[in-house]
Amino acid sequence: MSNNETLEVRNKPLLKQEIAFLIVHLLPLFALLTGATLFDWIVCAFLYFFRMFWITGGYHRYFSHKSYKTSRWFQFVIAFMAQTSAQKGVLWWAAHHRHHHRTSDTPSDPHSMKLYGFWYSHVGWIIGPDYKKTDYKTIGDYAKYPELMWLNKHYLVPPVTLALIVTALGAWVNGGSILLMFTHHGLSTLFVGFFLSTVITYHGTFSINSIMHKFGKQRYESGDESKNSLWLALLTLGEGWHNNHHYYEVAARQGFFWWEIDITYYGLKILSWLGLIYDLKGVPGHIKYSKNKQHAKELAAKIKEKELSMAELRKSA
Ligand SMILES: [Zn+2]
Ligand SMILES: [Zn+2]
Repeated sequence: MSNNETLEVRNKPLLKQEIAFLIVHLLPLFALLTGATLFDWIVCAFLYFFRMFWITGGYHRYFSHKSYKTSRWFQFVIAFMAQTSAQKGVLWWAAHHRHHHRTSDTPSDPHSMKLYGFWYSHVGWIIGPDYKKTDYKTIGDYAKYPELMWLNKHYLVPPVTLALIVTALGAWVNGGSILLMFTHHGLSTLFVGFFLSTVITYHGTFSINSIMHKFGKQRYESGDESKNSLWLALLTLGEGWHNNHHYYEVAARQGFFWWEIDITYYGLKILSWLGLIYDLKGVPGHIKYSKNKQHAKELAAKIKEKELSMAELRKSA
């Protein structure tokens, strides 16, 4: 174990372990041979936002932070959808993310940009050999479900399924028949619609770990370097309110104020209206309008003693 001053030794990636990750980054270039249709670009944009929604609403807000509840069958659907992003197993993802919150910007943080630099926090920790395993103890509350354990182990099933569907759809739309899947009609959709959007989704997600602990504004004293940024919140469907999130991590919404656009939260609201999820956790007033945990405690006490109303709290902001 390291103390607060000593950085941990983080091992360099082994090329032979990371060939697949490298190939995923290179495959979109094959579109130079196949060409790309308007349909392929639409699929690319759609799959970026579709999968970003399940990453933030699923991997992150549900499995890492339990910010809402759902049924067992829909929990599996959420896990499957999140894993179509090819960001490994749901238990792997959530366990490492819990680890990040517990150790944010300390030497044991898997991806502290402050301590380990931009490249390591962005992608180095993922391709390095140190964080390959799932820590089942950290994620015991979900590791008890055999179907999630199965999905976590066979983490490529969802992305491969999606890739096949996308290729068939491309063949049908671009070429008129799904029998043309493995001709340029289907393959162009695979390279641009699936692989290019997978790569962009990777770096959209990774940017939360790297630059969201560096650039932007800090509203709350969260004890780490986390920041808020509108443009990153738009690109990542709400994850850019990262300082809010580090300050109060259990909320289903990361935009705490109405003007803090959080598209994932709107999507989760729709799922709750459909009855698929419920008990979305909100942000209590004493948290929202406080500066730090001590201040939040004082506000909570005042609200309890009825010395302070919500209206006064709002005005004080
Ligand atoms: Zn989090
Ligand atoms: Zn963070």
